[in-house]
Amino acid sequence: MRRITLINGDGIGPEISNAVAKIIEASGLKIDWDVQTAGADVIEKEGVPLPERVLNSIRENKIALKAPVTTPIGKGFRSVNVQLRKELDLYANLRPCKNLPNVETKFDNVDIVVVRENTEDLYAGIENQIDENRAESIKIITREASMRICKFAFDYAVKNGRKEVCVVTKANIMKLSDGLFLECFRNVAANYPNIEKREILIDNLCMQLVQNPQKFDVLVLPNLYGDIVSDLCAGLIGGLGVAQGANIGKDYAVFEPVHGSAPDIQGQNKANPTALLLSAIEMLKYIGEFSYAQRIERALFMTLKAGICTADLGGVSTTDDFANAIIRHL
Ligand code: ATP
Repeated sequence: MRRITLINGDGIGPEISNAVAKIIEASGLKIDWDVQTAGADVIEKEGVPLPERVLNSIRENKIALKAPVTTPIGKGFRSVNVQLRKELDLYANLRPCKNLPNVETKFDNVDIVVVRENTEDLYAGIENQIDENRAESIKIITREASMRICKFAFDYAVKNGRKEVCVVTKANIMKLSDGLFLECFRNVAANYPNIEKREILIDNLCMQLVQNPQKFDVLVLPNLYGDIVSDLCAGLIGGLGVAQGANIGKDYAVFEPVHGSAPDIQGQNKANPTALLLSAIEMLKYIGEFSYAQRIERALFMTLKAGICTADLGGVSTTDDFANAIIRHL
C-alpha cells in the first residue's frame, strides 16, 4: 500500500482533508496516510510550526498532500510554506487551471497550466536600503534554475498530452535576466520537436488572458510573473475554492490548494474541499494512479453538474454533504 504524508493543516484544513481522504477511500484506492500535524496548533508543544518530523515524513514518503497551514504572524517564524519549498527544493510550482462544470466564470473552455519557477528571481530576498530615500531588490536568474523549470514544463506537456508551451518574460527590457530565461527556454525547447513553442511578453499575456484565455496551454514563467499570473488564472476558473496547486522538486512533491486556512469559516462545515480534492487528483496522476484519478474527477464533475456545491459557489451543501454526494457519484 502506498504511504503518503498527509498534513491536515489548521483552520478549515482538517475539515477538507477528512472530506478528501474519505472520498479517496470510497474510490477503492488504498492509501496508508502518514498524518502529520503542523502550523499554529503544534507550536505550543513543539516550539515551531514545521517540526523536523514533518519534513522527515515527506523525505521518507516522497509525496505529500497538504491542507493549508497558518504561520503565526509577528512571532518570528519563517513561513511554513516557504520553508517546505526551501528544505525540499521544490523548484516548480504547478497550477492547472481548468473550468469546472456549473462553476460560473466569464469564459468557458479555459484549460491553462501555469508552471512557475519557485526558487529565485526577486524572491531570492536580496534587498538593500541604499539610503533613506532609495531601496533596491535584486533579481537573480540563473541558467541552472531556468533550464530545469523549462525542462519541467516540457516534460509535463509530454506526460499530460498538452500541445504547446509558452514562455513568458519581459526580455525586451530585462535583456540579461529575462533574456537568460528566454535563452534557456529556447535551448530546452529544441529537444521537444513534438511540442509547439511560443514566446510572449508578460504585458501582452495579461491582456490576452483576460480577452482570450482559451488561446493558452502550458505557460512557463520566472517566479514573480508566475506568482501573479497563477492567481489571475485561478480567478478565471472560479477563484480560491477551486484553485489547486503543487510544489514539485527532483525528489519530492507536495500537492496543496492555493487557498489559505480560512479561519473565518473554520469549524462550520462550510468549506469547499474542491481545491484540495483537485490537488489530490493531480497527485494521483503524478504517482501513476490514472484510473482512480479519472474516476474521482468524474464523480466530482457529476456532482457539480447536478448543482450540488458549497456556499462559496452559490450552493447550499455543507462540506460533508458535498463529499457524500461525490461518494455517491463514484
Ligand atoms: P492566507 O494568507 O493564509 O492565504 P487569506 O486570509 O489571505 O489566507 P484564505 O484563507 O484563502 O486567504 O481566505 C480568503 C477568503 O476565501 C476567506 O473569506 C475564506 O473564507 C475564503 N475561502 C478560502 N478557501 C475557501 C474554501 N476552501 N472554501 C470556502 N471559502 C474559502
